[in-house]
Amino acid sequence: MHLPRFTYVRPGSRDEAAGLLDTFGKAAVLVAGGTDLFPRMKYRISTPEYLVSLSGVTRFLPALDEDGALRIDALMSLGDLSRSPIVRTHAPLVSQAATCVASGQIRNAATLGGNLCLECRCLYYNQSHTFQFVEPCFKLGGDLCYFAPKGNRCWAIFASDVAPALLSLDTVICVTGGPGKQRRFPVAELYTGDALSPLTLLPSEIITEIIVPSAFGTGRHSFRKFSRRKGYEFAGLSVAVALQVADDGRTCRDARIAVGSVAGGPVRAAAAEAGLPGQDLSNSETVRSAAATAAQEIRPIAHHGYQAAHLRHCLEVEVLRALTEAAGPAPLADV
Ligand SMILES: Cc1cc2nc3c(=O)[nH]c(=O)nc-3n(C[C@H](O)[C@H](O)[C@H](O)COP(=O)(O)OP(=O)(O)OC[C@H]3O[C@@H](n4cnc5c(N)ncnc54)[C@H](O)[C@@H]3O)c2cc1C
Ligand code: SF4
Repeated sequence: MHLPRFTYVRPGSRDEAAGLLDTFGKAAVLVAGGTDLFPRMKYRISTPEYLVSLSGVTRFLPALDEDGALRIDALMSLGDLSRSPIVRTHAPLVSQAATCVASGQIRNAATLGGNLCLECRCLYYNQSHTFQFVEPCFKLGGDLCYFAPKGNRCWAIFASDVAPALLSLDTVICVTGGPGKQRRFPVAELYTGDALSPLTLLPSEIITEIIVPSAFGTGRHSFRKFSRRKGYEFAGLSVAVALQVADDGRTCRDARIAVGSVAGGPVRAAAAEAGLPGQDLSNSETVRSAAATAAQEIRPIAHHGYQAAHLRHCLEVEVLRALTEAAGPAPLADV
């Protein structure tokens, strides 16, 4: 399959890129690594007239702020993210999640910003529309859904592995472009939860960097990706857990549990999180109960051959494993 015709523009800065997006309007799409956009263009489900590329923009290396927060350029490749010593030390969960994405070759081209702005996926949408599924579904501006023909909404899945990791770390997103020019907000506010229009970004807004606060960044953590094959595959679901633990090494001070690939955006297991502060994490009943609560409050959407009930069971199992892994072994005195 080959790409449709387009005009390629390569600005030298993010502000220039935002200006071009503003000028070209709906005719233009931003491209970073192209690993998500180019396959969609080859399937003709995205056919922009202009591609505004970020490949000519200078990238900065991850750096620590005075308060210990880690700033990461949104143009950093997922490969660099997974290898970077400073990210591994100060935001190991981010590095771990990036390592789980696709293959080494894709990770070297794919960027952090692109991963956070993935288009939602569904078996019917992500394929050629030339001989079947020719009628446009809701996502392509039509008025039907192939996945749920009786429904009136889009059920596609937001499948980024890095987004749940950032959600569990209370990460801040910085963007440029749009009327306010620059703004920053918690990563949770980047997502609408609606697969039809999954991002809250304005059309000319570009993610410039992310800031991982120190509070959860270096705390106990775990990232788990469930899929049929262990390698090169989008997640059936992914779970990120970040914990703050008291000095006794076992009492939970604060907890974040975020889940990906179960809805039109990453979601937090808020009720499960709320039950953990003050609890003894070395008590297996505590983590079992939190995992069961997570599986009650989150209802995964069936996708890519995974049934909803199966995903729900896997969600409980993976949250249990992630919490157990993050909690770590009981302090030595108790062993
Ligand atoms: C075979 C294959 C397997 C994959 N497996 C996984 C997987 O297991 N887990 C996973 O999480 N992902 C997976 N992916 C998706 C991959 O991670 C993403 O494609 C990649 O991170 C996207 O980054 P990119 O820079 O290539 O984005 P692009 O394709 O360049 O862009 C993707 C979207 O984001 C927008 N965008 C890009 N950068 C910015 C920015 N800075 N600000 C605002 N908008 C922006 C673009 O306009 C576009 O709409 C897979 C992809 C392929 C092809
Ligand atoms: S789930 Fe969404 S993308 Fe898939 S067929 Fe239905 S409307 Fe289209």
